[in-house]
Amino acid sequence: MAELSPALKQATPVLAARGEGIYLYDEQDRRYLDFTAGIGVTSTGHCHPRVVEAAQRQVGTLIHGQYTTVMHRPLLELTERLGEVLPTGLDRLFYVNSGSEAVEAAVRLARQATGRQNIVALQGGFHGRTMGAGALTSSGTKVRAGIGPMMPGVVFTPFPEPYRHRCSEAEAVRFALAEFDQLLVTVSAPRDTAAIIVEPVLGEGGYLPAPPEFLTGLRERADRHGILLIVDEVQTGVGRTGRFWGHDHAGLRPDILITAKGLASGFPISAIAAPEQLMSQAWPGSQGGTYGGNAVAAAAAIATLDVVRDEKLVENAAEQGQRLRDGLRGVAAQHPVIGDVRGLGLMLANEFTAPDGTPDAATAARAHAAAAERGLLLLTCGPHGNVVRMIPPLIVSADQVDEAVGLWGEAVAAAV
Ligand code: PMP
Repeated sequence: MAELSPALKQATPVLAARGEGIYLYDEQDRRYLDFTAGIGVTSTGHCHPRVVEAAQRQVGTLIHGQYTTVMHRPLLELTERLGEVLPTGLDRLFYVNSGSEAVEAAVRLARQATGRQNIVALQGGFHGRTMGAGALTSSGTKVRAGIGPMMPGVVFTPFPEPYRHRCSEAEAVRFALAEFDQLLVTVSAPRDTAAIIVEPVLGEGGYLPAPPEFLTGLRERADRHGILLIVDEVQTGVGRTGRFWGHDHAGLRPDILITAKGLASGFPISAIAAPEQLMSQAWPGSQGGTYGGNAVAAAAAIATLDVVRDEKLVENAAEQGQRLRDGLRGVAAQHPVIGDVRGLGLMLANEFTAPDGTPDAATAARAHAAAAERGLLLLTCGPHGNVVRMIPPLIVSADQVDEAVGLWGEAVAAAV
């Protein structure tokens, strides 16, 4: 009998039969509060009626309008709609299917446009599992060990980590920017450096928001040295952080923006956006893919953008994110093992730390499992696995946030 690969790691022992709103139901119809959103994907909740309707309509009209063979209306319409929410000037789009593929597309474009080879990535960052995107990933050695050699031309620079280094945010930013400056004079000269890629909130690496001064410091250095700034909004985009894009918190303009996950509420579609003058550096035929910009996924993405706008989900993410953060801080205040509660919008982390200051993955794992037993689905992250993260659908209500905080409090109490 065939079985799934044993290398697949399943976070919770649930067999999902159906989803509705922020809930998942198993085959016995037990209800779970889904605070994982399928790793930040089901932005409008599971099976939002408007997304279902748009996808069903498209399935009956045209499923696969292969975009290097023929063009189709949903992709043109999605491009127009994204134009309304993308940063000014980033008005040329190229579509693929996953975050990893979009990251690879961004790297190819940066190398083509600059004629330079090196890509600087942040230590602790996650950009995917393909060999190119994986080469930029350092959220934990489990995604790299035994797999190399990876794509060459990648150099890492530290991400500001005030909690880990027990310093102020300003000190962490100063240190990280100084290390980047040092990298440019020791390892990767600007003339060899095509781009720096950064997540507005370090995601898989531990849910660490990038301080605005860090991002503006990178922007300023990129401008000074002719290096492109690639902002990976795969997890932080489409309202997740309480602004439409995560980098909006820093008020800067990326050269290349990457979006995926929450864009289509669960259908696989991703994109890179760049200014015309930059995207035109990709020569004809160097971008493409059999399934990229799928018509059903594009229709679902348009419906998702409609729902995000009409139901004011960006505002809801900010409001409920604040409520959730306050609730989590309340739980942490009762349990010193939670050393830090942090995040932006509905992308929040609880970091478990032992009294001697070392990461406490064992208690985090017990709390994570105890939450699932109580009907609250969560994920862990961080290189040590000691961070329990919460990333509910953007439609979450105040009552659901309160219910989740209550269950989390019980779970932590049971785990310590
Ligand atoms: N970039 C970021 C910031 C991500 O969080 C992820 C997925 N967790 C990826 C890229 C890779 O996306 P995918 O799994 O769709 O390839």
